[in-house]
Amino acid sequence: LAGRACYRIYSPAESLRSQHQQRLSEALLASLKVARDEFSVVYQSQYDLSDGSMVGMEALLRWQHPLYGSVSPEEFVPLAEQRGQIHELTECLVDCIIQDMHLLAAGKGQGRRLSINISARQIVDGRLEKLLEPFFEKVRQIGWNPEIEITETHLMNLSRRCLDKLRDYGCKGVTLAIDDFGTGYSSLAYLHALPVNVLKIDRQFVQRIGSSGRDTRIVSAILAIAEALDLEVVAEGIETEAQMRMLQELKCHRGQGYLMARPSPLEQMHLD
Ligand code: C2E
Ligand code: CA
Ligand code: CA
Ligand code: CA
Repeated sequence: LAGRACYRIYSPAESLRSQHQQRLSEALLASLKVARDEFSVVYQSQYDLSDGSMVGMEALLRWQHPLYGSVSPEEFVPLAEQRGQIHELTECLVDCIIQDMHLLAAGKGQGRRLSINISARQIVDGRLEKLLEPFFEKVRQIGWNPEIEITETHLMNLSRRCLDKLRDYGCKGVTLAIDDFGTGYSSLAYLHALPVNVLKIDRQFVQRIGSSGRDTRIVSAILAIAEALDLEVVAEGIETEAQMRMLQELKCHRGQGYLMARPSPLEQMHLD
């Protein structure tokens, strides 16, 4: 019957869930409009796996709603996309980071990377450039290097215009990382054509490294591709010593995960 005009029968659980989504979505619209102080940013450090030095950090948005509590970005980012509010969400993120600038400036930036997550569909939005250019300038002024992370699944659908925009950012010294690498469908030819500097190996592979031969081989293969294309690799979601040792043996460059640091507010971090 799929594709025909037909009705769907929702189970009670499903209909509760969709009601909840609906309310959450309305709450998100309202909060982005009038309650931006419900949003905050946390940072997760990245380390050089060869010497353990801190080489950068990823900014992650948080939303604390008075009624719904702490809502995961896995939930509210897609809702913002659906409601055409992803630009407002990125504005919120940028505002939060700007409020932390004095702390960022006090710690040693010196070439460390500050990454933000950007939705692929936002790239061609003219407002994004106007928002990010002055922001990236500020980031550079305090000695950090700006980086954009884009999820791999969306990369294949990027238009020419999008790619050109990304190339523009690259020319201006912004590094580009492919997030959740290994979960999408990048062809090698395509990877080569993208103005990419970094591959972030998705945590599903990292977490089974060592225990699953298949996942270990996938990580090795990603490292080989990166070497051939002269890209840097960040392994995300490292939770155990064993995973870290394995990644070090495979000569993975950088790592990020609960083992080394959980995402936290900047005031609680040591940036020296
Ligand atoms: P992501 O970009 O893949 O971010 C990594 C996620 O993994 C983060 O979840 C982080 O807290 C979590 N993580 C880090 N280390 C570990 C670990 O060792 N184990 C486990 N199990 N998890 C770990 P978070 O903060 O909930 O963010 C989820 C996703 O939401 C992000 O995935 C990203 O796609 C999106 N997101 C977060 N902040 C923003 C934002 O400001 N803008 C946009 N567009 N998306 C965002
Ligand atoms: Ca990311
Ligand atoms: Ca990721
Ligand atoms: Ca993810």
